[in-house]
Amino acid sequence: MDFNSSFLDGMVGVGDMILLDALSEDSLLQNLKERFKNDEIYTYIGNVVISVKPYKQLSIYTPEKIEEYRNSVLYQLKPHIYAVADEAYKSLRDRDRDQCILITGESGAGKTEASKLVMSYVAAVCGKGEEVNQVKEQLLQSNPVLEAFGNAKTIRNDNSSRFGKYMDIEFDFKGDPVGGVISNYLLEKSRVVKHVKGERNFHIFYQLLAGGGTELLGKLKLLPDCSKYVYLNKDPNSFSGMNDAENFRIVKDAMKIIGFQDTEVTSILEIAAVVLKLGNIEIQGQFQANGMASCYITNSQYVKEIGSLIGLDASTLENAFSVRTVEARQEKVVTTLNTSQATYARDALAKNMYDRLFSWLVQRINESIKVSEFQGKKVMGVLDIYGFEILEDNSFEQFIINYCNEKLQQIFIQMTLKEEQEEYTREGIEWTRISFFDNEIICNLIEDLGVKFKNHNHFKSKATQNDKRITDNTLSDISFRIEHYAGQVTYNTKGFLDKNNDLLFRDLSQAMWKAKHQLLKSLFPEGDPKNSSLKRPPTVGFQFKASVTTLMKNLYAKNPNYIRCLKPNSTKKPSLFDDQLVKTQVRYLGLLENVRVRRAGYAYRQVYSSFLERYKMLSRETWPRWGGDARAGVEALLNDPKVNIPKEELAYGRTKLFIRTPKTLFDLEELRRKK
Ligand code: ATP
Ligand code: MG
Repeated sequence: MDFNSSFLDGMVGVGDMILLDALSEDSLLQNLKERFKNDEIYTYIGNVVISVKPYKQLSIYTPEKIEEYRNSVLYQLKPHIYAVADEAYKSLRDRDRDQCILITGESGAGKTEASKLVMSYVAAVCGKGEEVNQVKEQLLQSNPVLEAFGNAKTIRNDNSSRFGKYMDIEFDFKGDPVGGVISNYLLEKSRVVKHVKGERNFHIFYQLLAGGGTELLGKLKLLPDCSKYVYLNKDPNSFSGMNDAENFRIVKDAMKIIGFQDTEVTSILEIAAVVLKLGNIEIQGQFQANGMASCYITNSQYVKEIGSLIGLDASTLENAFSVRTVEARQEKVVTTLNTSQATYARDALAKNMYDRLFSWLVQRINESIKVSEFQGKKVMGVLDIYGFEILEDNSFEQFIINYCNEKLQQIFIQMTLKEEQEEYTREGIEWTRISFFDNEIICNLIEDLGVKFKNHNHFKSKATQNDKRITDNTLSDISFRIEHYAGQVTYNTKGFLDKNNDLLFRDLSQAMWKAKHQLLKSLFPEGDPKNSSLKRPPTVGFQFKASVTTLMKNLYAKNPNYIRCLKPNSTKKPSLFDDQLVKTQVRYLGLLENVRVRRAGYAYRQVYSSFLERYKMLSRETWPRWGGDARAGVEALLNDPKVNIPKEELAYGRTKLFIRTPKTLFDLEELRRKK
């Protein structure tokens, strides 16, 4: 897509970074800043749109704006997410090219909002009609449901997605939506049992308590007061501005529209209630007569309530919390759990239950929105996934997230180069290889380590063998360091193994499987004695790698469009551009590399007729009118000694003129101004 011709007229800075005169991190930042200060929050790098979150409502998302982008030649308009959505949609509809829209950025930078802007733009411009509208509604309503269960208030974002999401929207040959498929990645399930002060657990718990009403809460034996639940009561201030009761209504309506039965909704909420009650089970230590440490539950009320909600007798449940059965050489050995083991088991159950419920929800939504295979299906994928993270203390989660970003960076570079290469081939222009930072070695290394990760030493020694980028002898024994494309990260291996293995004692899954509650039971298939011979489930790292591999394959088959989200400051001020903060994000997103790759060959290209139209006034040969074919006109114009452009700056393709450096373009502009 060649958006950039318009950026030469009356623009704040440059609308496309490819046209930056002297490219450096500073000039890139300066350009973003200047534009941001003038409420120009969108800037391109070729077909990548960078968005700098405004921290205020701009009137650029109105139906009129949608109309504007839908009806115009895009390069005559300002950079906008709608332009990218429009380009992607039209290319899908008219040229049969499957599309994907990759949205990245740090927490609170605006990824989820961007994904919704894309969805609503596409919904607004595609076909109408009763059936189509119903599909659109179902697709759009999946958002509030998944956000209720998968988002939470964090320090950085009141509505932070705590899972990765990829949604394929499927269209028929006319370009009308017919359905979709959602994939979810790694929910932050630790939040179910623990969150820091000022943050909250997943929205649904608060929504249920605030909006459930006496009858429903009575049935679930829940109290409306959050402070009664250990998993919830951290900080009363964290409720301000959340509208939980109203949102509960929205979520219930959304579920109805998607096609959930009332009984299903009840089942889901029962499981949410069970999770809350699990958190209130108190475990105390005691010593048995033989001196062994064991434990017991002090408040059996919650065990009873859980038992009655899920149809399981309380003693089975209570027993599962106090012992662990291990099978060794066909012999069952039962050991008693001490307090910390039992607490661990309780929390593991709550986390797994919620996590599995969430995945089930995604599958259930998919059932409603899926379309059967048919000929001529076209697809637009939208990826809203956590950005690169460097925290003070980087653990397994950061390792996994950064691996995913490393892969996305890899695919970005490969696809951009591939696309450039293809355009050059199409246009018959010679392609010279350019050098770029190839992160394949890092991807391979992480995959190798992540999958075979057995213990800390294994990790460290493997890392050392593989790459000097990983080693640092000054690090403590429980950490290792990786030089990612976005910067160095030191990972702390404490808890790595536990998180990777994600152990849920079999006694608990077996107990859950015995429950009469159909949905709950289905979430614990490994509890079925028939399945007891099943091997342990694959590690979290292994599963994640498999799903990232599938995702990458899927993306690679599509035409990519990128939305890169930046946060201008962390204090939510409307016009503050914090240079340092933005600089870090620009690095994490690899934007400089992005521009470099984009203009590695030729920074600028334009179809002959448009180019001629703009610059014909520079030469007597072409002014006021050129009679022959456009390419010959451009050649005549550029060969004019008065114009004087060095030959090596130009390449003549089949349909387009290519210009190597932005300076040449600006020289042409300068000549134009002087006329
Ligand atoms: P996370 O990784 O935590 O999920 P995110 O990148 O998805 O973060 P969003 O939830 O999309 O971030 O955005 C955070 C908040 O910022 C939104 O709830 C909204 O209030 C505001 N916001 C995002 N984009 C825009 C925009 N284009 N204009 C105005 N406000 C915005
Ligand atoms: Mg989000």
